[in-house]
Amino acid sequence: MRDQPSLPPPEAIPPDIGICEDCRRELFAPADRRYRYPFISCANCGPRFSILKQPPYQRGNTSLAAFKMCAQCAEEYDAPDGRRYRASTIACETCGPQVWLETPGDGDSPPLRGASAIEKARQFLAEGRIVAVKDTGGYRLLCDAANAEAVAELRRRKRRPDKPFAVMVGEMRVAEQLCRMGQAARDLLNAPQRPIVVLERRPDAPIAPEVSPAQNTLGVMLPYTGLHCLLLESAPNFPPALVVTSGNPNGEPLVKTDAEARQRLAPLADAILMHDLDIQTRCHDSVVRVFQGHAYPLRRARGYVPAPLRLAHKGVPLLATGGELKSTFCLTNQEYAFPGQHLHGGENQRTLRVFTEHIARLEDLLRIRPEAIACDLHPAYLSSRYARQRAEAEGLPLVRVQHHHAHIVSCMAEHQIPDDEPVIGVAFDRTGYSTEEGENWGGEFLLSTYTDFQRAYHLDDIPLPGGEQAVRHPWRQALAWLERAGIPWTQDLPPVQHVLRQGDRRTLQAIQRQMQSETTGQRSSSVGLLFDAVASLIGIRHEISYTGQAAMELEARVASHQFGLYPILITGEVIDPVLTIRRIVADLREGVPQGVIVARFHNTIAMMVHEGCRKIREERGIRRVVLSGCIWQNATLLGRAVETLRNDDFEVCFHRQVPPNDGGLALGQAVVAMHRLKG
Ligand code: ZN
Ligand code: ZN
Ligand code: FE
Repeated sequence: MRDQPSLPPPEAIPPDIGICEDCRRELFAPADRRYRYPFISCANCGPRFSILKQPPYQRGNTSLAAFKMCAQCAEEYDAPDGRRYRASTIACETCGPQVWLETPGDGDSPPLRGASAIEKARQFLAEGRIVAVKDTGGYRLLCDAANAEAVAELRRRKRRPDKPFAVMVGEMRVAEQLCRMGQAARDLLNAPQRPIVVLERRPDAPIAPEVSPAQNTLGVMLPYTGLHCLLLESAPNFPPALVVTSGNPNGEPLVKTDAEARQRLAPLADAILMHDLDIQTRCHDSVVRVFQGHAYPLRRARGYVPAPLRLAHKGVPLLATGGELKSTFCLTNQEYAFPGQHLHGGENQRTLRVFTEHIARLEDLLRIRPEAIACDLHPAYLSSRYARQRAEAEGLPLVRVQHHHAHIVSCMAEHQIPDDEPVIGVAFDRTGYSTEEGENWGGEFLLSTYTDFQRAYHLDDIPLPGGEQAVRHPWRQALAWLERAGIPWTQDLPPVQHVLRQGDRRTLQAIQRQMQSETTGQRSSSVGLLFDAVASLIGIRHEISYTGQAAMELEARVASHQFGLYPILITGEVIDPVLTIRRIVADLREGVPQGVIVARFHNTIAMMVHEGCRKIREERGIRRVVLSGCIWQNATLLGRAVETLRNDDFEVCFHRQVPPNDGGLALGQAVVAMHRLKG
């Protein structure tokens, strides 16, 4: 055992807390001492994790240490019956942080300060300009969500053509005008974590279509700081909803320091609203869906991190490094797991630096020194390389965990499944390194325990024409499935049309050759890629600009109240969807509407889940099913699969605390490692 410093209680490092009702009321009460003060907070709300330098959480260890309390604040700080008794973030206009507005185009004119800075920023936003705003966890970019030109300009500058943006609205009333929602959604919007909640967008919502193109959903959040409340204050000529997106060029981490902001955000924003409260840790906005009345996490960051999950077992302190860098890491100590926060950015050195910085910071804050390291099997992930190098340098055991096993275990850990109970893990994913070199999995029925797994059934693996390229170009996967189903690539089929539109008959011939020489190239059993293929096959999406785009646009088209199904075969261990593909093509040729085909396809996949589970239950007597992997972000599929399984007396576990996508992977890796090292 390494010499472990004492474990701080999990509540010692609180996550950031959205502005409370009392503070909001004071903010707009002219008689209050903190009337219109952007950094208003109390013992019940305010930034925590993002401004903490070192444990324990107390004022002297946060960015507020730089501000000496005035006499009045000091008095409130010491008054045991007040809401600001021992409130570390206590501040006011006299003694606390201040805002100012910099306009890069304006040369050296002195920046506007305080209320006039906010007023000017609002004026810019109302005029359709893009404003960068420093938040407690990093810089964000804002613009008028109803202004199509402003949103298009933001997309152009960020180099983010299609991926949906979220919007922030000043009040619940506006959120209800934009989206359909029930009480659970309202509660989540108002929750202290203040996540982005992905909701069904009303067809008449006053939002530019560019905000979430080809989607029927919209991510909405409410203000989480006093500054947001002031920025979004309703006024006759002010937009009711603002796009809020992370302040960074696409593929790079969130901008944190003021110097960085001046340099990297100047080309993106017309003005930058800054303040002098330093950010200690970057934290993105969290994203949830609502499923069966509760949060279903898609991205775990601000408001949730670094709150721990309680595990069923104690183990040695561990670090798990996750999948791609943006998908985050996880630390454990005793019976607690601390997933790190989602990180933007591609697989590059800049992101790797932020990734290692986040690990070091959380290890410091939680006083954890890992005694083993877990990582993915993928040799090319920078997170796996980091894990290997660090394990070597520190002489620690390295545990390599198969991608889909880690997904399933992440969900098992959330549900505290007993040690000796094997489960049916349905890991539906887009990519993931198999146990064999060069194979991509993602349509797996695993018999899984915490330590190990067996592959019981899987989607048929077919060639990935062009390897990685097939992942980025859904039409390639569509052609591969047509070939596999023995359907000629005729010109009436949308993916064939797409290739020919680009004038390239030779591409078709080259892919045909690749497909026929089956010995070469990568193969894949991914359900995610099957979704992509179907999206291209019926003409919804042939090229993508962000991961999961084709599958998300497919889900957005589902015609509700369509209960039809396509056939699907299970032979031996292989699930073969060629009949599904054939029937889809037949429907397409008969002119069946897209929405109906898409609904039937979703129903088919839900039935395939049920079939696979039923077979395993017959053979093994297991009736607990665990659903994980990024395809389970699809709420339509999730809803149908859960209902079908429950109707047949299965016990179904799905995610409630970490995302089903790779954001949850590290938790699974950590728990697998914990159990393997114990045994
Ligand atoms: Zn408060
Ligand atoms: Zn003060
Ligand atoms: Fe995955």
